[in-house]
Amino acid sequence: MAAGKRIGVDLGGMSVKIGVVSEDNQIVERVTLPMNRNKPFKEAVKEIAEAVLAMGAVASVGFGIPSTLIPGSQVIIHANNLGWKHCDIRKELKKYMGETPVYLANDADCAAVGELIHGAAKKVKSCLMLTLGTGIGGSYIHNGKLFLGGNGIGLEPGHMVIHDHGKPCSCGKIGCLETYASATSLMEEAERSNSPVLQRMISENQGRPNAKMVFDASAMNDPAANLILEEYIRHLAIGISNLIAVFGPERVVIGGGVSAAGDQLFIPLQKAVYKMVDEPELVGCPDIVPAILGNDAGIIGAAMLDKVMM
Ligand SMILES: [Zn+2]
Repeated sequence: MAAGKRIGVDLGGMSVKIGVVSEDNQIVERVTLPMNRNKPFKEAVKEIAEAVLAMGAVASVGFGIPSTLIPGSQVIIHANNLGWKHCDIRKELKKYMGETPVYLANDADCAAVGELIHGAAKKVKSCLMLTLGTGIGGSYIHNGKLFLGGNGIGLEPGHMVIHDHGKPCSCGKIGCLETYASATSLMEEAERSNSPVLQRMISENQGRPNAKMVFDASAMNDPAANLILEEYIRHLAIGISNLIAVFGPERVVIGGGVSAAGDQLFIPLQKAVYKMVDEPELVGCPDIVPAILGNDAGIIGAAMLDKVMM
């Protein structure tokens, strides 16, 4: 690779975070640009390219994009948060950056790469990462390389069916993991509950429920919150143990807001998964740990994409 800086770009619906990542995987310089859905694709790419070039000589630039990418061509299929559809970002960037190597991946995959290279999965070669947010995102890294499946578009563990007579999902199917184990599902259960503790928390927050309230109410030993949390962890454990059965990761990293719950989530989750995996005494059970890099994972992972592409 040519001498120069490794740049990681984390494209979000509200902002674009750009960072220079050093050889020891630290973000040593950063810039944030405002972003919104109304900004036309070409204008946004020009602004990003100019900001990247202003950082000095560039060796490579990697992008984490909240979209599925068409394998091979890596054209953006539909980045809903950005309002971009069928855009060829690589071709557009070339106008400004010439032959500088450009790498693209889904933003969840970049976060997993960041955690693998410099975060919660630093010492392992094979890890599964799940991000519990509005939905459930997921990535698998096999032997240090990002696994995107035979079709090259990556994993969609949130839409793995765990109840064939379950709740309807936004994808049109019934009983997907994310309808039971996303942050959204916890929030909905809090809202639906008639627990006076949860109802008071919601009204004190201008009528807006959130996932953290369930953990807080459970810490106060509210029976309804305890039950919601128990069911939540049981469903999440079903999803994780199914993925362990398929991929056999050494470690499972959990990201997203829910992972901030700490021991309240991870101790019972590890126990529940242990009971569901095959022969844990003989083959072991992967550690389930929280992500540690937060928003920086996306930038670090994007900058290191060349190291993990199969
Ligand atoms: Zn679904």
